[in-house]
Amino acid sequence: MSSERALEILRSVFGYDRFRGDQAEIIDTLSGGQDALVLMPTGGGKSLCYQIPALIRPGVGIVVSPLIALMKDQVDAAAALGIRAACLNSTLGFREQQWIEEQLTRGELDLLYIAPERLLTDRMLELLGNAELALFAIDEAHCVSQWGHDFRPEYQQLSILHERFPGVPRVALTATADARTRGEIVAQLRLQRARQFVASFDRPNIRYAINDGQNPRARLWSFLEREHPEDAGIVYCLSRSKVESTAEWLAGKGRVALPYHAGLPAAARQRHQERFLREEGVIIVATIAFGMGIDKPDVRFVAHLSLPKSIEAYYQETGRAGRDGEPANAWMAYGLQDVISLRQMVESSTAPDAQKRIMQNKLQAMLGLCELSSCRRQALLAYFGETLAEPCGNCDNCLNPPQVWNGTEAARKALSCVYRTGQRFGVNYVIDVLIGKDDERIVNNRHNQLSTYGIGADISQNQWRSVFRQLITAGYLRADMERYGALTLTPESRPLLRGEIEVHFRKQTRPSKEKSVRKKIETVLENAADERLFERLREERLSIARELGVPPYVIFHDSTLREMAVQQPLTPEGLLQISGVGESKLEKFGEAFLAVIHEFQLMSQDG
Ligand code: ADP
Ligand code: ZN
Repeated sequence: MSSERALEILRSVFGYDRFRGDQAEIIDTLSGGQDALVLMPTGGGKSLCYQIPALIRPGVGIVVSPLIALMKDQVDAAAALGIRAACLNSTLGFREQQWIEEQLTRGELDLLYIAPERLLTDRMLELLGNAELALFAIDEAHCVSQWGHDFRPEYQQLSILHERFPGVPRVALTATADARTRGEIVAQLRLQRARQFVASFDRPNIRYAINDGQNPRARLWSFLEREHPEDAGIVYCLSRSKVESTAEWLAGKGRVALPYHAGLPAAARQRHQERFLREEGVIIVATIAFGMGIDKPDVRFVAHLSLPKSIEAYYQETGRAGRDGEPANAWMAYGLQDVISLRQMVESSTAPDAQKRIMQNKLQAMLGLCELSSCRRQALLAYFGETLAEPCGNCDNCLNPPQVWNGTEAARKALSCVYRTGQRFGVNYVIDVLIGKDDERIVNNRHNQLSTYGIGADISQNQWRSVFRQLITAGYLRADMERYGALTLTPESRPLLRGEIEVHFRKQTRPSKEKSVRKKIETVLENAADERLFERLREERLSIARELGVPPYVIFHDSTLREMAVQQPLTPEGLLQISGVGESKLEKFGEAFLAVIHEFQLMSQDG
């Protein structure tokens, strides 16, 4: 039976004990020649779902992926497992391509990664026609969607695979969850008869936290100091200039921090990405141009210094943390200016009205998540149509429930002050009037004579900013960027002004109150000796990785090294028991790591 064979491959090649979630059934479906559509969150274990059937079925598995820059790492990772893999894309020289094509024709490959534009050439289709094909895996399948931000026109032509190779099973895989995209994938790729596998999109090991308020940079720094003094992570910013300045600032603080955005030369982008993957503890500061398909498993944090445009984008970006299943942080800080500029970006977009409305709704949902005072995970999953029965206990709101206050009166003061100053001024000015500041401009405008002058003196300037942010976020006020951020009332303001509805605001979070996941990671290695051995094993891994020119995680994951440090196996058989050690890796790297453990034990006996 194919499922026994699959389990045997899982153990001997990958070194894992059991399948996760739907993996076994997906593998069965494909091995049996049927199509599948796989929706699984990042880190869910999608690659195995096509790698194992490609090994079970005769012929080569063709993997379509838009991620040319990462293909080499994917091939290296497969090779470390003893899988015969290669890639074909524009970065290869002619000789190399020819050689791979020969291997393909002779049936000497298990897996071939191809960029879609290459696959669609007549020449390639003909070559494939002459080879024995195990399956087609269409990775990052959401790229077919015109509405998504990863749209690739070539993906829409991939239906040709079904027409040219009707007998070859196809699997489309994506970590994008929404039903609309799923429908598009099915329609565009002709997957009407595919079995659909929709996994839970929950990522329980990721802790979500969203901070509001002043000085996001200082908050980021204290977060990094507290939780990730040495870890690799990603910091997302909205603009290129903010990316540059943030990377410089972090570097000035002594961290290895590299910028990444579409304005950098391709060579620099490539170099920074490589260092992020190959070295340890590197921080990438990036616009959303960075990250799709980054399968570095030990990204310990994703921090947002700017608001994402939608919950989909937020979830996808934060999903790059903790693919290895170990505790990770999704941390965000945002302020009033973010809300205003994003709103503005959407409003001034030249997209057709229908699409603009979608963008507006998506942004509104994102802002709602930010201002939420109940469990973030419940809200996130609900957005993707999933229900989480209980609050998660692993988000900021669960761990440290925010204080909520009835802001109805403050909101009415704010709105009427906007109204009485003529809907011509920005947030700072209106706040100055509210707190009754003695200011020349206010006197010249005679706004010191208004009934709203000084009626907000009982609330601090900072707190007012938070009130205005929440009013703008909730749509009770609008900031008009064409008029320098002048605040205007909206149709929603009226019932609030008339006292027909109440509003509640979150009190600002204080950084010192945030709780740490770091302790949880550290207690895994309670023993100081284990910790020392773990460090030694990491050094060994890094030196092997350097020698081979591959990312360290291609050798072994942290979790595998950690288990080695605790179990301290001294024989090849013992090493094989460790999760993540298969036969190929045992043969390639076993001796080196066993030597480290041996040496460590001898030294500790001496001491
Ligand atoms: P995705 O492509 O869905 O983001 P990957 O295929 O990269 O996820 O898998 C994420 C991590 O989980 C990888 O390090 C992989 O080796 C590991 N993994 C996958 N399946 C299993 C399993 N059955 N048991 C243990 N680890 C697994
Ligand atoms: Zn929660």
